[in-house]
Amino acid sequence: MRVICRPSGSLSRLSRPAALLCLLFAAGSAVAGETAVEPSGSGVDLIQDSTYDADSRSSETSAAAEDLVEAVPAHPHDVPLADAVTTATGIAEPLGILGREIAPGSAQRLAWSATELFEGVPVSTPVLAVNGKLPGPTLCLTAAVHGDELNGIEIVRRVLHDIDPDKLSGAVIGVPIVNVQGFRRGSRYLPDRRDLNRYFPGNPNGSAAARIAHALFKDIIAHCDALVDLHTGSFERANLPQIRADLRNPDVVTLTLGFGSMVVLHSQPTVGTLRHAATMAGIPAVTVEAGGPAQLELVEVKHGVNGIETLLSTLGMVKKSRFWGDPEPVYYRSSWVRADNGGILLADVSLGSSIRKGDLLGTITDPMSNMRTELRSPYSGRIIGLARNQVVMPGFAAFHVGIQAEEVMPDEADAPDFERDPDTGGYVDGMSE
Ligand SMILES: [Zn+2]
Repeated sequence: MRVICRPSGSLSRLSRPAALLCLLFAAGSAVAGETAVEPSGSGVDLIQDSTYDADSRSSETSAAAEDLVEAVPAHPHDVPLADAVTTATGIAEPLGILGREIAPGSAQRLAWSATELFEGVPVSTPVLAVNGKLPGPTLCLTAAVHGDELNGIEIVRRVLHDIDPDKLSGAVIGVPIVNVQGFRRGSRYLPDRRDLNRYFPGNPNGSAAARIAHALFKDIIAHCDALVDLHTGSFERANLPQIRADLRNPDVVTLTLGFGSMVVLHSQPTVGTLRHAATMAGIPAVTVEAGGPAQLELVEVKHGVNGIETLLSTLGMVKKSRFWGDPEPVYYRSSWVRADNGGILLADVSLGSSIRKGDLLGTITDPMSNMRTELRSPYSGRIIGLARNQVVMPGFAAFHVGIQAEEVMPDEADAPDFERDPDTGGYVDGMSE
C-alpha cells in the first residue's frame, strides 16, 4: 500500500489505517516509555491534543499534592508488540502472577488485595487470568478504576470467559473491578474522594489512592505487554464507544490499529492516569470509553467486546477469519459545547449523530419562566459524547463534538473556543478517563 501523507488538512480523507500509518511515520523517533515528543512543525501538527483536561483540579483532591514514585518498570518485552505472535514459537511458559503459577492452556480466578477496610479486613477484588497454550504477548484489561463505571466490568467478564486457553497465544489478564471500594458505594471515587485515576503509578508511602495505585501497578500492570483501560463517561454523561490514544507513540498506534470498527480520538493522557503511567513504563496503553456511568448498557458492552476480541485477533493471539466492521474515523480534535443558560437540558441529537455547523444539538428550558434557548453546533462533525437529559447550570458541558479535520486545519488559528484556552488550561470538568 502506498500512502501519501500531506502536511495538513488531509488526514480526514485517508482511510484510518492509512491515516494512522502517516502518524506512525510522523511520530518518527517517539519511543514508548519516554515522554512523548511534541509535534514538530511538519505534518504532525495535525495531531492536536483534543481531550487533555486537568480533571484533578476539580473538586476532588489532586495528585499534585504528593510525589508519585517512578513506575515499576515493566518486565522486559521479548518481542515488540506488533511482532509478538508472529515471532513467538514453541511452548508457552507458566504465567507467574499474584504468587501463583498458571500453567499454559489454563485459566484461574485469583484475588488481588491492595488495601484494608477500617475494620482491618482486606478488600479483595477478582483477577481473571488466562494463560494460552502457545506463547505470545500478555494483554491486560482493567475496568472500574472509577467505581461507578459498570460497562467495562461486563466487557472484561465476557472477553475473559469467551477465551479458550487451548487456542490462545499469549495471556490475557482481566481486573474487572479495580476500585472495589468505589464500586461498593456506587461512586467514581475512593472513600476519601480521591480519584484513583490521578495517582498512577502510585507511591507505597503515600495516600490511600497512591498506595492502591502502586500495588496495582506492581502486582499486575508490570506483567503486561499492552493495556486496555475501560471507562465510561462521568457525571451523567455518556460516550460513543471510542478509543482514546496518544497517536504520537508508535506502539500505541499499533495497539489502536487492532480494534476494528471503533472511533479513535487522539488524546494525550493526563499525568496520573493509568494510561499515562503504563505507557511511561513501556507498556502501550489505550483507554476505551463506552457509554455512561451507573448503568449496564448492552449495546456499548457488545461494542467494547467486539473491539477487544478484534484486537486479540489482529495481535494474532486468537485466530479469527475476518476483521470486524468498517473502519471508523480518527478525530484529532474535539470540543465540548456548553450550556449558556441554566435549566432543563433536552437533547435533539444522539450519540454517533453526524452534524453540520449550525445544527440544533438540544434545548435548555428555564423551568420558571418557560424560556427556551437552543444549543447549536459551532462545528461540523460527530457527537462522540453527550450529557443525559438533566437539569444543568450555565457552563455545563453538554455535547462533545469530534471535529472533522477540515473544520480545524489548516486555519486552526481562527477556531474560536477550543477547550484548551489560556483561562482554563484545557480544563474540562470531569470528562476524561
Ligand atoms: Zn472513568
